[in-house]
Amino acid sequence: MKTLTDLSPSEVRDVFREMRLPSFRSDQILQWIYKTGATSFQEMTNLSKSLREKLTAEWQLDSLREVKRNKAKDGTIKFGFSLHDSHIIESVLIPMETGKQTFCISSQVGCTMGCKFCNTARMGLTRNLTASEIVCQVLHLYREAELSENQAFNVVFMGMGEPLANLDNVLKAIAILTDKNAMNLSRRRITVSTCGIVNGIRRLAREPHPPQLAISLNAADDETRLKIMPITEGNPLSELLDQLKRYPLPPRERFTFEYVLIRDVNDRDEDAANLPRLLNKLRYKINLIPFNPFPGSDFLAPDTARIEAFQQILFKKNVTATIRKSKGQDIQGACGQLAASLGTELE
Ligand code: SAH
Repeated sequence: MKTLTDLSPSEVRDVFREMRLPSFRSDQILQWIYKTGATSFQEMTNLSKSLREKLTAEWQLDSLREVKRNKAKDGTIKFGFSLHDSHIIESVLIPMETGKQTFCISSQVGCTMGCKFCNTARMGLTRNLTASEIVCQVLHLYREAELSENQAFNVVFMGMGEPLANLDNVLKAIAILTDKNAMNLSRRRITVSTCGIVNGIRRLAREPHPPQLAISLNAADDETRLKIMPITEGNPLSELLDQLKRYPLPPRERFTFEYVLIRDVNDRDEDAANLPRLLNKLRYKINLIPFNPFPGSDFLAPDTARIEAFQQILFKKNVTATIRKSKGQDIQGACGQLAASLGTELE
């Protein structure tokens, strides 16, 4: 069956034009999907019964089925969604101290990047998500978040998968999310996080409205980085930074560099001291993420004193560096903990 949430609003209009329906009908339907949050045509009470039935027979709206949810003590909720081919992805709804909500969404089933500290990497890659499967994660979380009118939310591509390895569908999903006739989300509220695929960043830079960019840096030199992130081979730091210097970063915006702190791997004083030298000439902030363990992981987080000492070295160089309190750890919903475990649990 065809999926309506795979189409941009202008494509939706084309479809309905071909069905000889007036254009206000497509506006109504888009409104139902993206503003009201309808998941079926049956809910669209201002359409005739016969039209609802015709649409229901030809088109599906929602490409996800919720199969699991876990709520953490801090309010974070991790959702498991089943796809049409029974694969499972996870998305996380994170309430922030500011009152805002962050929707952490997946871009692939699994991942091929092979980062040694990440649980998703151990799944390997099954397939890319479609634009609809990405958009529908946002729609599901949006309904769950029960935001008041005008309450802002952020979308971060920090769930399972490498968004720049599925760039066509990620860009299509972003186009739908930001379209004023669909979700009308500001591009500033969308962050794409990458392990540093230089070609993908180059392509993103050519977009008319590129999203915010976060880069999972995790080391200040190629040698250390290669030990934990195989993508460094073929994407050395020098090329990554060259590409970032050419990125059309709007005034007042900054890159975010994520840095997973792993005991005795990348947590030395000299690693901290090397970061500002490496990132020299860029506008940025650093998010320090103490390593989150998962079943079978070999790494440890540094102790609190080490984490704070690392941060202090950055502060002394006037670098903005926050320690990210990982949310949802008790439900395996924090950074790097999302994985297929769910699939086996369901069997
Ligand atoms: N593939 C993209 C999107 C995933 S984002 C990327 O690499 O950016 C997931 C974030 O969690 C990344 O910044 C990654 O460095 C971090 N991460 C992965 N495993 C982690 C772990 N075990 N503990 C803490 N952070 C982790």
